[in-house]
Amino acid sequence: TPHVEPDPQAGAAVKAADRAHVFHSWSAQGLIDPLAVAGAEGSYFWDYEGNRYLDFTSGLVYTNIGYQHPKVVAAIQEQAGKLATFAPAFAVEPRSEAARLIAERTPGDLDKIFFTNGGAEAVENAVRMARLHTGRTKLLSAYRSYHGGTNTAINLTGDPRRWPSDTASAGVKHFWAPFLYRSPFYSANEAEESARALQHLEDTIAFEGPHTVAAIILESVPGTAGIMTPPPGYLAGVREICDKYGIVFILDEVMSGFGRTGKWFAAEHFDVVPDLLTFAKGVNSGYVPLGGVAISAKIAATFDKRPYPGGLTYSGHPLACAAAVATIQVMEDEKVVQHAAHIGENVLGPGLRELAERHPSVGDVRGLGVFWALELVKNRETREPLVPYNASGADAAPMAAFAAEAKKNGLWPFVNMNRTHAVPACNVSEAEAKEGLAALDAALTVADAHTV
Ligand code: PLP
Repeated sequence: TPHVEPDPQAGAAVKAADRAHVFHSWSAQGLIDPLAVAGAEGSYFWDYEGNRYLDFTSGLVYTNIGYQHPKVVAAIQEQAGKLATFAPAFAVEPRSEAARLIAERTPGDLDKIFFTNGGAEAVENAVRMARLHTGRTKLLSAYRSYHGGTNTAINLTGDPRRWPSDTASAGVKHFWAPFLYRSPFYSANEAEESARALQHLEDTIAFEGPHTVAAIILESVPGTAGIMTPPPGYLAGVREICDKYGIVFILDEVMSGFGRTGKWFAAEHFDVVPDLLTFAKGVNSGYVPLGGVAISAKIAATFDKRPYPGGLTYSGHPLACAAAVATIQVMEDEKVVQHAAHIGENVLGPGLRELAERHPSVGDVRGLGVFWALELVKNRETREPLVPYNASGADAAPMAAFAAEAKKNGLWPFVNMNRTHAVPACNVSEAEAKEGLAALDAALTVADAHTV
């Protein structure tokens, strides 16, 4: 990391304008205190005061090749010099090339790419395609999920952020997906959890009416909701149920895609091919907003002679696509996907399990690749969460104290409810991952003080 002179005055000016005029997402505007960031490189970022942080959040789990990768920055600069923008109805080189590289890596026959500017728009378009393809309207999605902040996407989401906007959830129905640690089905093992979750899904479909259900949407590995790798057989079982009833199967890989799990797409771990796959974030490490839907041949054929009623001014933006082409090339050249798998198997996985052995506040460790969650609890026996579900203010204090201690130790942690996620860049080095584990060790000692 280059030496950067602290400049608190400049930081104060950035902060003052932010507080005066930036309206932040998901926040009570009067209760937040955003850090003014001066720069970032690789796995680190730094503020104006001279503090440097190891980013164990990858931004919002999207800087899969870290910050400021020189090859991606150069590709964006070069594209800006050649053709900074061009409308979506035309064939332009970075768009064609990005679509080809993505289609070559998505599983099965997901060979057509509809570009969006991010994940939520990808979800909106995937469900629209499913509804038009089937002529049905209902959408089934899981509790403990996140699908984005736009209208349908937030209503599909299975977490408390949906509650205030729930009035517009026409046709969206929720079901329980498998999660052995807090099993909705009181299962004793993974095989039971998988079988019971599949039966529950099929029962839900029966009571909704199979002929009314357009799509089932699931994250291949639910991310924001807690990194819950599905038990063996579950996603394959959902695939079978979808085929049985003519329901479109959408896998949301906005967070799990592009190397995060140690494969290009998490679906590969389970040998399933959805009808539609949504992506964003890691596709270009988020250097320029980009997302999309990878479409199977069957669904693409629906729109061969009939127009697809949807589009976005910046669909397949040349700068975003040039960044995707460069990112995918970097990931190939530097074997980033294999590296993410290696870090998970040899550093993060064993390291986090070792922390769990020593810290009574850790109730569960789960994940793969560079996609890990620690579930913090008050008590390991009862599994009572360290802070109540959807806690804020004083109720959330133990998690705030955990996060503050991590930051004091140079680690920027991902915190959601009673969980911390270890989600560094896919190209995090072994030394950086170990540095993160050491900071987590210190922060967990603070969490331990809140156990009973
Ligand atoms: N789907 C999943 C699985 C996500 O994790 C996210 C974002 O975290 C989204 C959709 C929404 O993506 P965006 O914030 O780019 O709209």
